[in-house]
Amino acid sequence: MKHWTPIFIENSQIPVWLSKLAPIDISAITLGLLVISRGEMDERTRNHETIHYQQYLDLLFVGFILVYLWDWLVGLFWHRHGKIAYYSIRAEQEAYLNDNDYNYLENRKRWAWLWNHKVKSPPYLEKLLELEQEDGEET
Ligand SMILES: [Zn+2]
Repeated sequence: MKHWTPIFIENSQIPVWLSKLAPIDISAITLGLLVISRGEMDERTRNHETIHYQQYLDLLFVGFILVYLWDWLVGLFWHRHGKIAYYSIRAEQEAYLNDNDYNYLENRKRWAWLWNHKVKSPPYLEKLLELEQEDGEET
């Protein structure tokens, strides 16, 4: 199952529409079996989104969506900042920390992202706080 990959759909308007609802500009998104992107996907993006696809499999799709939304709310509570809350989602932590490792999916431990990461304290929180200052976003 670790070799399963999603269906990639490029040059779609769907990420453009979804960005209007999201705290970040979405260039690619994994929705169940599908990965949909605005333009063409580079290798890193494919790797990132395939990690999300494997997370969907970890939690049988519906569970992933619930955990993802739950982490988003917990992140908003702790960090009071939309973009920081997004990067603090455990699923995003696993994906961002490993999307440049092209052997990662080969060695990935199923479900480990659920306990290896904390929404309250992502390892790159310092960088996120710098990003918050650059934005000058009010909360
Ligand atoms: Zn992601």
